[in-house]
Amino acid sequence: MAAGHATAAEEEYLQSLFWLFEAGLPMTAANLARAMQLSAPTVHEMLGRLERDGYIVRGAARTIGFTPAGREHAERIVSRHRMIERFLTDVVGVPWDDVHEEAEHLEHAMTPRFEAYVRSAVGDAKTCPHGHPIRVGERIDGVPLADCKPGAKVTIVRLENEAEDLLHYLKEAGIEPGLRGQVAANDGETVTVRSEAGLSAVTVSVAETVSVLADPSPPSRIALPEQLVLGRERYGR
Ligand SMILES: [Zn+2]
Ligand SMILES: [Zn+2]
Repeated sequence: MAAGHATAAEEEYLQSLFWLFEAGLPMTAANLARAMQLSAPTVHEMLGRLERDGYIVRGAARTIGFTPAGREHAERIVSRHRMIERFLTDVVGVPWDDVHEEAEHLEHAMTPRFEAYVRSAVGDAKTCPHGHPIRVGERIDGVPLADCKPGAKVTIVRLENEAEDLLHYLKEAGIEPGLRGQVAANDGETVTVRSEAGLSAVTVSVAETVSVLADPSPPSRIALPEQLVLGRERYGR
C-alpha cells in the first residue's frame, strides 16, 4: 500500500490519532470519536479506509496502531501544522487564537516548495504558538492547571485543545504559553492565576485543557479525550 497520498480527510484522522497517542490516551475508535466529535459509524468507516490504505492496523481489544508509514505520515502532518501556525503568528502576524483553523486550511494546499520556505522562515522555533512541539517527541510533560492548588507557582506550557472558541476564551482571559504566575484561587469552579499581567480566571473545565509546570506540582495524569477536541467545523457536518 502506498502511504503518501492520503486525502485531506485521512490526514485529519491521522492528526487526531497522533494527538491521542502523544497525550498518552489509548488509540481507540471511541476515543477518536470523542476527540473529533464524530459519530462511531463515521469514525469506523474512515478507520477502515485508513487500514486499507496502509496507515493503521487494528488489533485485539479495539486498539489502533500506526503502521511505520502511518506513523511517519502522521508525524509529518502534525509537525507541518504546528510549523504553519508558528509561521502565521511570527511572520504573517495572525493572532495566536486564530491560527489553528487557518493552518487547517493551508496545510492541505501547500506545495513542498512553499513548505520549505515556511520551514526556513520559522527558523528554530520549538513549538507552535499553543506550546505543542514542532519536532514531535520533544513534548514537555505538564499537569492540568485545574489540579493546581492556590499558592503553586505555575508556568503555562501548552494549550492542549486548539478549538478556536476555546483559544479566544483563553486569550481573552490572558492565559497563554510562557506565562508565569501563581495560582491565586482554585475553588473547584474557577481557577485564577496571578501574573505580572494581572489576574486571569478560567473555569475548571477550561483549566483542564491547560498544561502547566507547577511548584508544588500535583501528580501527573492523563487528560480526557474530550479535552483534546479540535475544531468542529472541519469535518463536513
Ligand atoms: Zn492547531
Ligand atoms: Zn497549535
